[in-house]
Amino acid sequence: MKTILKTDITVKDICEGFVYNELEGKGLFGLSGKLTIQPEYQRNYIYASDGGKREIAVIESILKGYPIGLIYFNKVSKDNFEVLDGQQRITSLGRFVTDKFAIKDENGMEQYFSGIAKDKQDKILKTKLLIYECEGTESEIKEWFRTINIAGVPLNNQELLNAVYSGPFVTLSKEEFSNSQNANIQKWSTYVSGSANRQEFLECALNWVSRGNVGDYMSSHRNDKNITELKTYFNSVIDWVSSVFTDIESEMKGLEWGRLYEQYHKKVYDPAKVSAEVKKLYGDPYIKNRKGIFEYILGGSINTKLLEVRIFDDATKKSVYAVQTAKAEKKGKSNCSHCAIGHDANKSKIWKLDEMDADHVTAWSKGGATSVKNCEMLCKTHNRAKGNR
Ligand SMILES: [Zn+2]
Repeated sequence: MKTILKTDITVKDICEGFVYNELEGKGLFGLSGKLTIQPEYQRNYIYASDGGKREIAVIESILKGYPIGLIYFNKVSKDNFEVLDGQQRITSLGRFVTDKFAIKDENGMEQYFSGIAKDKQDKILKTKLLIYECEGTESEIKEWFRTINIAGVPLNNQELLNAVYSGPFVTLSKEEFSNSQNANIQKWSTYVSGSANRQEFLECALNWVSRGNVGDYMSSHRNDKNITELKTYFNSVIDWVSSVFTDIESEMKGLEWGRLYEQYHKKVYDPAKVSAEVKKLYGDPYIKNRKGIFEYILGGSINTKLLEVRIFDDATKKSVYAVQTAKAEKKGKSNCSHCAIGHDANKSKIWKLDEMDADHVTAWSKGGATSVKNCEMLCKTHNRAKGNR
């Protein structure tokens, strides 16, 4: 890859003809139209999030004369460049110069670019940037791009994949899944965690449709001119979940709905019954893992492991052990009730506390509480045998 260092391009040059697309959250062009600020493999603009702290910091650095770091352009043709690294900083500059956000002056007053003193405006516009113009093959540039971080905010996994597999498929996918103006985002957010800007909906949709093989899927669909399969599959999963579980619970967010859809979407559920069961389980104080409730119900309410039902604490075990053992010693029988009714040598064996485990007399699934009254200590062998039934 060939690189040339440019030191004479100013903020004014860069911001000439700057266009910011509010809808897509992207800085688009600069340098009098010669520069594409956000090629399709770039991520959305994220410096405006968190109250805009990062974009304000870019402007304050410039006003203080601090460097804002190296910027890399990819030379596409004689007079055309794309931003390889520096897109967030350039967009901050462009947005400020076009009055899209304000900074605080020394008196704490918010000031837009058009409202600050002329000398400060000049200082910003005349600041020269350090820019490397790179020329290389697509794969060289992408390989290099894969290894860099942009201004302290590392690319996440999906952003890297978008860069590596850039093309019409990524562009269309981002229009659907990475567009924070998409009216479906609120509904999706019930089931999918993350944000459109950081590509987390796209990542989820790809993960579901590809059964976890996102890279392979993106590679083989790279040049597709439509995203029908991706969209249809994603919507099928969302529609399925929202029809089976009619209540919205915060623990639904981020579950493996794609896997659950594959496993259970052919089974028939009565949404009213499901809803009643969800409510009952949500009201059960012994359930530690509420996230497991949905898969538990889908699987026919059998696998209680998913719920992490609360176990007996040590104090309960000790007191139950003491009472049980005292009674057993009086009778000359084993302190494990199952051993006591047996015929082998263990029928009069007194087990030590650490040789026994606590068992629900009435199973939790049949309404048994995790309390002293419902606790019985059994020897480990019998406890295990009972647990497996
Ligand atoms: Zn036993």
